[in-house]
Amino acid sequence: MKRLGIYVHIPFCAKKCNYCDFYSLASGEDEKKSYIEALKREIKEVSKKVSADYQVYTIYFGGGTPSIIKADYIKEVLDVIRSYFQLYKDDFYPEITIECNPKTVDIEKLSIYNEAGINRISLGLQSTDNDELKLLGRIHTYEDFLESYEMVRKSGFKNVNIDLMSAIPNQKIKTYEKSLNEIIRLDPEHISSYSLIIEEGTPFFKKYSENAPLFSELPSEDEDREMYVLTSEKFSKAGYERYEISNYAKEGFYSRHNTSYWDRVPYLGFGVGASSFFGNERYKNMANLKEYIKKAGIEDIREEIIKLNLNDAMSEFMFLGLRKTIGVSKSEFKNNFTFSVEKIFGKMIEKHIKNKLLLDNGEFLRLSERGLDISNYVISDFLLD
Ligand code: SF4
Repeated sequence: MKRLGIYVHIPFCAKKCNYCDFYSLASGEDEKKSYIEALKREIKEVSKKVSADYQVYTIYFGGGTPSIIKADYIKEVLDVIRSYFQLYKDDFYPEITIECNPKTVDIEKLSIYNEAGINRISLGLQSTDNDELKLLGRIHTYEDFLESYEMVRKSGFKNVNIDLMSAIPNQKIKTYEKSLNEIIRLDPEHISSYSLIIEEGTPFFKKYSENAPLFSELPSEDEDREMYVLTSEKFSKAGYERYEISNYAKEGFYSRHNTSYWDRVPYLGFGVGASSFFGNERYKNMANLKEYIKKAGIEDIREEIIKLNLNDAMSEFMFLGLRKTIGVSKSEFKNNFTFSVEKIFGKMIEKHIKNKLLLDNGEFLRLSERGLDISNYVISDFLLD
């Protein structure tokens, strides 16, 4: 039996956040309905190309804001997935996650998610400071978040992620520490913690390029570093394991969906702009909503198809696997590629071990604490031409 992940992209948002470069937009009810029909067509059509020995271990509704559409639409999509794919079943699988934003969920929606078999909720918070939320262009306050979080718990969800952001303009160590303390108090099972990146094409990028005063207030390198250390210290004291560069979980609550990305488990992405990794190819669906609605399930909507060669696959194995704090398994590398990891990456491994950025316990190669700090630098060294 082969493992398979499914990602479903719901591209709708109430309003664009200032830092967001995801494919998302505001839309009317008719367009949302047509989108769901197109999604269902795409799922049915793609399922024909997937052999019966694949079983679905994880499903993830991401966005955009999946919780902004009618919950019945989510249920309909899950019903189609269940009809056309075989789902793996045990106590932990399939893990079915939906991303929700505060102010877009209510008890009724959550009860439909429950009925539909969703067992993990990922809530976008980013900060508990209302000034920071406003600056980011979020549609909610911290109080709105608390209301949604309480509803999620009342509805019986026992696996909840909270997203947190650092390095926000004007953010001070004090306000960031308050966010960390508040999140720990709320006691979610999982926390994703990322630094703000100013991506091209976003309102933040425009202001940044224009040298807007706001961006002279970005946390300094030292403050950024202090936030980074504080995050890892506080979460670890509170019983969270840092199992990936930016992800923390209580025992037994790793995100199975994200872990399968780092483990190179094949996945199918459905929806406008969604990415897939299947049949040794990586590809993206077209990123135009109107065209997607017209063509999904009728024509080939894939773009940017990249067929991976052996070097690509070995590089990916390393740079994705090293994101996990457990690191990469040498025996697994050999099973997958027949060569030993030392034969292919010996020089890089030696260099980073010497610089104390990489550790080798005989079976696993993993980033050291210092290596995690500068993971981008170390990981990029494992790219083969
Ligand atoms: S809610 Fe998420 S997807 Fe939507 S605009 Fe904000 S950051 Fe982007």
